[in-house]
Amino acid sequence: MKCLFIYKKHLVTYLVLFTFFIIFTTFYNVFAKMEVFDSNYIFPSFENNFSILQSNLDNLYNSNEKIAFLTFDDGPTKIATTKILDTLKENDVTASFFVIGYRVKEFPNIVKRAYEEGHFIANHGYSHNNSKLYKSKDGFINEIMSTDEAISDAIGIENYHSHIFRFPNGSKSKEYASSKNMCKNYLNEVGYAYIDWNALNNDSTKKYSSYELLNNLKKSCKNKNSLVILMHDTSDVSKSYESLDASIKYLKEQGYSFKNFYDIIKN
Ligand SMILES: [Zn+2]
Repeated sequence: MKCLFIYKKHLVTYLVLFTFFIIFTTFYNVFAKMEVFDSNYIFPSFENNFSILQSNLDNLYNSNEKIAFLTFDDGPTKIATTKILDTLKENDVTASFFVIGYRVKEFPNIVKRAYEEGHFIANHGYSHNNSKLYKSKDGFINEIMSTDEAISDAIGIENYHSHIFRFPNGSKSKEYASSKNMCKNYLNEVGYAYIDWNALNNDSTKKYSSYELLNNLKKSCKNKNSLVILMHDTSDVSKSYESLDASIKYLKEQGYSFKNFYDIIKN
């Protein structure tokens, strides 16, 4: 009788524990599924390993080969981007365009042309406004996602994932430095890598002539193998499109071949 009493007492304990176990596992599964659902929803097309992509990008500057990556920021704009695309076509060279989301909405056909001519369309955020970009984690991620959505609509490819982000003013500038460091982690979380540059023609600092732009570039490229060259496809400061043909010819003479970031993502 005593034995049966103890057994009954334990049975109640077991039942209570079992009920807690069922409740816990049910809730755990529901939340785990929500997490998986959310990340699949936000990043449907991401398949590559972004940490490998990030280290491949970081290692570009250490390459022994003479490769030039032409990159154009802040477009698309009507005149500059179109003229740049014409010059790239004439020289049979492809480049990478770090586009701004709201400008993609304005000139979707120019982005479509760039994409169809084999250029890489990368992400430079939606607003190019630091106070908006670094306001919150959600805000930062939303700037990237909405830029990809705008690119998707422009090029007619569903769920376009640009994979590579460039911070406005670069990842290392002092302004918003701590926010940028946080955002590097957020990029990592959402499967994006980022890249700066190691050469430039200084087209965004003041009005330079074509001759000066080319000279700036020559100085900046000196004694470097792989080049990630920063230029802008806007017309508000210096007109890089006016020095582009001579810049490409100079780089070819110096033994550089040209690639864009598709070549890195594919590997
Ligand atoms: Zn920019």
